[in-house]
Amino acid sequence: MLVYLDNSATTQPYSQVLEAMVDCYNINYGNPSSLHKMGVEAEKKVKVARNKIAASLKANNNEIIFTSGGTESNNTAIFGSAKALKRSGKRIITTCIEHPSVLNACKVLEEQGIDVKYLGVDGNGLIDIEEIEAYLNDDTSLVTIMHANNEVGTIQPIQDIGGIKKKRENVYFHVDAVQTYSKIPIFPKYMEIDLLSISAHKIHGPKGIGGLYLNNKVNIPPLIYGGQQENRLRSGTENVPGIVGFEKAVDKSFSNLEKHVLKINEVKAYFLNNIKDAIKDIKINSFEDQRCVPHILNISFLGVKGEVLLHMMEQSDIFVSTGSACSSKKKGQSHVLKAMGLNDEEIEGAIRFSFSEFNSIEEMDYVLEHLEKHVKNIRKILRK
Ligand code: PLP
Repeated sequence: MLVYLDNSATTQPYSQVLEAMVDCYNINYGNPSSLHKMGVEAEKKVKVARNKIAASLKANNNEIIFTSGGTESNNTAIFGSAKALKRSGKRIITTCIEHPSVLNACKVLEEQGIDVKYLGVDGNGLIDIEEIEAYLNDDTSLVTIMHANNEVGTIQPIQDIGGIKKKRENVYFHVDAVQTYSKIPIFPKYMEIDLLSISAHKIHGPKGIGGLYLNNKVNIPPLIYGGQQENRLRSGTENVPGIVGFEKAVDKSFSNLEKHVLKINEVKAYFLNNIKDAIKDIKINSFEDQRCVPHILNISFLGVKGEVLLHMMEQSDIFVSTGSACSSKKKGQSHVLKAMGLNDEEIEGAIRFSFSEFNSIEEMDYVLEHLEKHVKNIRKILRK
């Protein structure tokens, strides 16, 4: 049995996504900028996808641009806002648990003289909203805060942050919603969000395609210059197969959203309840209620090296993660767990299980059996 529990890193594409993409390569391979009917056909497909994604966010069609994924959307939002609001503000407020595509962009801006304030988090990975109020001044151009964290799943109070930001003009509010889009409702217009990043491969769509919502009031310069596609904000021939695949993933995940979330909740709850009985000396690092996204569960196995456990699980055809996919090949500890105040043993023994609608209770029984065995073996070896 193969059990894939690394759905925060990426997901298995829906078969409908792949079929639609193959058609785009075989039949509808025109360039949307071409004037002939193959070009017009491709342009229509991009329009249908843009409309579908806009509708899923209750946004206008002209408020969505396609990018190469969450990383590019975050970079476009952050560098664009910093440049656009250069005259009115030199401060950015973010958190110390953001994805590297936010943290590293902020670091570059810091080197250019921008004053970046990094909000800390409590033991559950939650920011303190009062800290935002304290930092928000007339010199602030951007507040950029993730909707849910990719390592532990904690959901931030985005609506309340939007409420604070509302009182300030000339401040853009950007939200990295890569881990929440199509999992929990997010409607930027009703939450005072100006910019919002999403990515297709986290929702059973293709890799290398994502989107950025920019409300009509936002006016930022592009990162990439050229033929002025995507409302002049993202030049380059559109990734039509990717866009079409993204549209199919949105269609399928949103039309069955409640059913999928129920299924994921059921599988995760079964796994969580049983693991507590089966394995001693563990620490649950994720909220066990609705303050955590449905698909993420982070657990520390004390006296175990997470990386060793990951590879032992791999031998049983079970695929998990020690942290976020982007940082797992880097040496060093998880910046998220560190910020939450976990000690070295808890950080080193942490495993992220991330679920999808494709997981089943039978799979969880298989995982629990192998997990119990491998944890026991590692503890035995390490104690010697
Ligand atoms: N933001 C978050 C919270 C993520 O989890 C990820 C991917 O792991 C990204 C951004 C980057 O998205 P992409 O892989 O589409 O560039």
